[in-house]
Amino acid sequence: MQEPGAPVAKTGMVAIIGRPNVGKSTLLNALVGERVSITSSKPQTTRERVLGVLTRGSPPATTQFIFVDTPGLGRASSSLLTRRMNQSARAALGEVDVIVLVIDARGWREHDETVLELLPPERPNIVLALNKADALARYQDVLPVLQDSARRYPFAALVPVSAERRKQLDELLAEIEKLLPAGEPLFDADQYTDRNVRFLAAELVREKAFRLLGDELPYGVAVTIERWHETDKQVEILAGLLVERESHKPIVIGAQGAKLREIGRLARADIAAMLDKSVHLETWVRVRRGWTDDARALKSLGYD
Ligand code: GDP
Repeated sequence: MQEPGAPVAKTGMVAIIGRPNVGKSTLLNALVGERVSITSSKPQTTRERVLGVLTRGSPPATTQFIFVDTPGLGRASSSLLTRRMNQSARAALGEVDVIVLVIDARGWREHDETVLELLPPERPNIVLALNKADALARYQDVLPVLQDSARRYPFAALVPVSAERRKQLDELLAEIEKLLPAGEPLFDADQYTDRNVRFLAAELVREKAFRLLGDELPYGVAVTIERWHETDKQVEILAGLLVERESHKPIVIGAQGAKLREIGRLARADIAAMLDKSVHLETWVRVRRGWTDDARALKSLGYD
């Protein structure tokens, strides 16, 4: 029996959501470390992907934050892909213990509102992180944004942070922790496995493409791993970047192949860091006409 008032372990799933470019990946990295911890023994109660695990404190008062992905907090559009992704995002958000909505501390934008609309109304477990607070001309400029935010949704807490400068992250974690349910840790603190590495490698390529292409492509690209040849010391990977239209191809490739090379260079570095091996990554761009509206293609890409 636990003594009343004795410290308890807390464990729960946390989703970091927000429109592109608000700093979600930077925040996740700042919270769990550059090497995102990947583990194979993820609980089967959720189909969400574990992005990283942060364990703090020591028994019996351990707190484990399990950051999970919510695929497809996409833009408003009628395409099947976006509809599906929004459905799965909604389902994912229903399963997590805490949602961290990230906006830019300088104010709400239309896309932030689109993301907010995906949230169930009046949920008590949603924390607003106002990121890039370092970019405010004066810190007090965040005050009207805090007021505006509180009017929009009954957030459990509003925390200005700077993911990049690692400011106020403890405050953010403290607010998340308050909302986590009691529970023993589900993951060993430093568990890394390779079960999902192919998938993660594809994600890294996709993420770099998205980062470098920004808003140039309405749905970014889908990435498939077409060849994976691994030895003790190195791995050779062939990754296919699938775009929707022929006209999207040159956008991804860039002048003299510069964009694609840069995507490959950045992804290769991250994959090498993740695997601790030398990586030879070859990328190529292919058109998969209409893939966003092809339910079978979606399935094969894992959106179903
Ligand atoms: P995501 O698309 O939401 O995952 O955003 P990223 O994490 O990729 O960040 C988008 C851009 O915002 C990058 O250029 C980051 O360097 C920048 N950024 C992220 N966090 C901060 C921050 O706290 N302050 C500032 N000034 N820039 C940030």
